[in-house]
Amino acid sequence: MAIGVKVVARPRDLGQQAYVPALVKGLGVTMRHFFDNLFGGGKHIVTIQYPEERAVYPKRYRGLHRLMVREDGSVRCVACMCCPTVCPAHCITILAEQTGNPNEKRPRVFEIDELRCVVCGLCVEACPCDAIRMDTGIWSSPVALRGDAVQGKADLMKRGALSTAVQGGAGGDWRDKQR
Ligand code: SF4
Ligand code: SF4
Repeated sequence: MAIGVKVVARPRDLGQQAYVPALVKGLGVTMRHFFDNLFGGGKHIVTIQYPEERAVYPKRYRGLHRLMVREDGSVRCVACMCCPTVCPAHCITILAEQTGNPNEKRPRVFEIDELRCVVCGLCVEACPCDAIRMDTGIWSSPVALRGDAVQGKADLMKRGALSTAVQGGAGGDWRDKQR
């Protein structure tokens, strides 16, 4: 397929060639905003002086993730890979390792890139054993390097707490026990 070249005609009149009207118009917009912000009480200013000023977070803001722990202080996560599978931002990285229990694994590496996270909460919904929660209310701190926004297993467990859920649930015969 031949690729055509679009020829754009040069402006012919002097006003357009000098770009003066457009320049004056642009300056007019700038000056309007300048005086509006100076004498208008700053009501149109949308930026804040962070970190001296803090934005008011919505009441339902969830905050950073945390990894829940068991009675013995070990991580509840069994490295089932449900959360990285469901995560739409692909920001969860888990490397699993064996435990002493042949029925369970655990994460050797558990990382969440909080800069990529879209705070959807799907990881929390997907977890079958209440191992990951988003209820800390803590917001991400500003970081100088992108890698500093990656929260590791130790960071996530530091915010964790003992879960009230029973590891492994009530077992496969829970219906029989209820009868
Ligand atoms: S909240 Fe959503 S985007 Fe963030 S880690 Fe969980 S699933 Fe991924
Ligand atoms: S869904 Fe829960 S148990 Fe599975 S890997 Fe994620 S945090 Fe661990």
